[in-house]
Amino acid sequence: MVVINSIKEMRQIAAAYKSTGGKIAVVPTMGFLHQGHLSLINKAKEEADFVITSLFVNPRQFAPNEDYDKYPRNMGSDSELAAAAGSDCLFNPNALEMYAIGNTTKVAVEGITAKFEGAKRPGHFDGVATVVAKLFNATLPDIAVFGQKDYQQILVVKRLIEDLNYDIELIVAPTLRQADGLAMSSRNKYLSDTDRQSSSLLFLALEDARKAIAAGMMQRKVINAVMHKRLRQAASIKIDYACAALANSLHEPDIFLPGDDIVLLIAAYLGKTRLIDNALTTIPKGKSPLAAL
Ligand code: AMP
Repeated sequence: MVVINSIKEMRQIAAAYKSTGGKIAVVPTMGFLHQGHLSLINKAKEEADFVITSLFVNPRQFAPNEDYDKYPRNMGSDSELAAAAGSDCLFNPNALEMYAIGNTTKVAVEGITAKFEGAKRPGHFDGVATVVAKLFNATLPDIAVFGQKDYQQILVVKRLIEDLNYDIELIVAPTLRQADGLAMSSRNKYLSDTDRQSSSLLFLALEDARKAIAAGMMQRKVINAVMHKRLRQAASIKIDYACAALANSLHEPDIFLPGDDIVLLIAAYLGKTRLIDNALTTIPKGKSPLAAL
């Protein structure tokens, strides 16, 4: 696996590869790779001939009060893991390479970013959209693989690809979980033993809401309350939000309708560690919304 630090060199290699007719896939990451990341690389390898894993902790998507400095990093093991998972190239620019002095341009995706992570982390999605556009420009991919784990980010990247006319196929890979349901995340390593135990409540809350919906519940606030109830089982969990919304638009009608695709979104603090998780489900057909009243 070749390791590239410069944007210019990355683009030259990608362009040369493209000219041979090969398909390029990019897997953007912030490193400290775990099985979830590796499953994205595996997926990329199935779909493309040349897989570029990018490893860049993007300062622009962290607010000043967030954990940019403390974000876990381990370049040595990341590069071994990425290679073993099938990555052909590790693109690892530093912050100055990505944001040269004098750089003032940002990409802002509006609308879909107004609530949930966008509201709780102002500027976060500008940072995400900007870095993703720059990574696309550097790696010239035919395919980009992102995880459903960051659900709102998927919607942002979809819009970005469409609005900026990138000729890139977006592949969304499922969330990999620990045995008790906790979604794998680089931040899990910060959890104390007690918080690690409580952390499975995020998954259980999503499951409770999914079951309530499968049983016919269509009232949004009741679905939200089902998630809150489960999360409140651990006093140490501070809920940032636990909400059901329409999966494509993130709109929040009072009552969902049969056939609606729903996303259940949770963000919560366990100690100082902020975790996010989500699940997709569909309001069953054949039940009347009036039954929900
Ligand atoms: P990150 O390094 O956290 O920015 O994540 C890089 C990519 O890996 C993003 O597309 C994430 O959605 C994805 N990812 C993170 N955690 C998981 C997981 N548990 N399962 C699958 N994909 C994940």
